[in-house]
Amino acid sequence: MPEDKIETRYAVIDPSHMDEALMADAGRLIKEGSLVAFPTETVYGLGGDALNPASSRRIYAAKGRPSDNPLIVHIADMDHLPAIVTAIPEKARLLAEACWPGPLTMILPKADCVPYETTGGLDTVAVRMPSHPVARRLIELGGGYIAAPSANLSGRPSPTRAEHVREDLDGRIAMILDGGEVEIGLESTIVDFTEEIPVILRPGYLNRARLETLLGEVRMDPGLIREDPRIRPKAPGMRYRHYAPRADLTIIEGGREAVTRTINTLTAEAEAAGKSVGILTAEESAVYYPKGDVRVIGSRASEAGIARHLYAALRDFDADGVDVIYSEAFDLPEMGEAIMNRLLKAAGHKVIRV
Ligand code: AMP
Ligand code: MG
Repeated sequence: MPEDKIETRYAVIDPSHMDEALMADAGRLIKEGSLVAFPTETVYGLGGDALNPASSRRIYAAKGRPSDNPLIVHIADMDHLPAIVTAIPEKARLLAEACWPGPLTMILPKADCVPYETTGGLDTVAVRMPSHPVARRLIELGGGYIAAPSANLSGRPSPTRAEHVREDLDGRIAMILDGGEVEIGLESTIVDFTEEIPVILRPGYLNRARLETLLGEVRMDPGLIREDPRIRPKAPGMRYRHYAPRADLTIIEGGREAVTRTINTLTAEAEAAGKSVGILTAEESAVYYPKGDVRVIGSRASEAGIARHLYAALRDFDADGVDVIYSEAFDLPEMGEAIMNRLLKAAGHKVIRV
């Protein structure tokens, strides 16, 4: 817990016409060791000076995050990378050229200047170059290296709007920059370059097929294979049951008709037992649910919309105070890997196959 409750400054910023005085204030706060939440293209981040151990400690305290779960260091300029790593393998350089700035995080061996407080005690560091203009300007003004995990309380769904950050972190951080709803809505793809063949530690917007076109063979961390949740993922953060709403979430997977029928039966049973029920669905099948608190997160024809609205829907269910949630599966062609990874974690891997 933070030592004292502090006043959180809340500022709206237009990403296409940034108020420079406001951004200068935010940059100064980072340099002084304070924390500023800011929009990125993936989710909102909670930023602190990555090279200042006290800032990283403050990030863990504000989020209530376990201190063995490392932070991602954000840069805005490729020339700033060599100072924080001891090697840049050829494939990492290639991927950076193709995908940065963007929703890609790379694990590389860390240089001495990166404190263990930032890397959760590891000798590697996670680095990302975001594309969001507010994120980039803040990094430049904040000294070049901003450690930023998602700006939620540990265990809550990641924030896709500034009001989510406020719900979780008001009174715990110096400032929130509100740049509107994020574009992607799921965290970056994490690729580990410390082994010969690159390994995906967390699926994201950039999927395996896209990475393989650029790099050749890419492996998936065996700890992510959904059928066997007993193998430990390599990214410490993927071991925790986070992205979780307060209600008990179960995924129902199968053909459309069997899924809607099963969800309707489960809903009737739960309501008969006095529980309130949330149903997570897409436009295509929403009409088949006569009961329950039905939330439509988009159309299956637009994966980007589904990814963008997933976390907000989980938060909305919390706000509605539902006791149980039944969700359809979203094994979509491009982002299905990433969406199902988050949904399965939120469900603690509870799946009914019909
Ligand atoms: P967040 O910023 O909250 O989305 O979480 C960052 C994710 O990156 C967590 O899952 C971390 O465990 C992972 N991560 C950060 N640094 C490393 C590292 N050096 N090695 C492996 N995973 C990392
Ligand atoms: Mg997070």
